[in-house]
Amino acid sequence: MKYNYGECEICNTKLVSKKVKQDFWIRGKLVVIDGVPAGVCPRCGAKIVRSEVGKRIAKILESPRKWSKAPIIRVPVVELP
Ligand SMILES: [Zn+2]
Repeated sequence: MKYNYGECEICNTKLVSKKVKQDFWIRGKLVVIDGVPAGVCPRCGAKIVRSEVGKRIAKILESPRKWSKAPIIRVPVVELP
């Protein structure tokens, strides 16, 4: 599946097609969606997701039952001193 994401809006570098993790806060809970196809800027790290992919993600986030059995990871929470 090749998709041309074009160039980065910030630094005009050609975006590279990759699968990435995206994190979302839903009602105070952090949810990570893995395997998200995105265009990533190798220079500044900006990420672009196609609207079609964004809609699929929104659908998943709208129905928490779909990910009720997803694996749970522990993450460090660091307070800025
Ligand atoms: Zn960039």
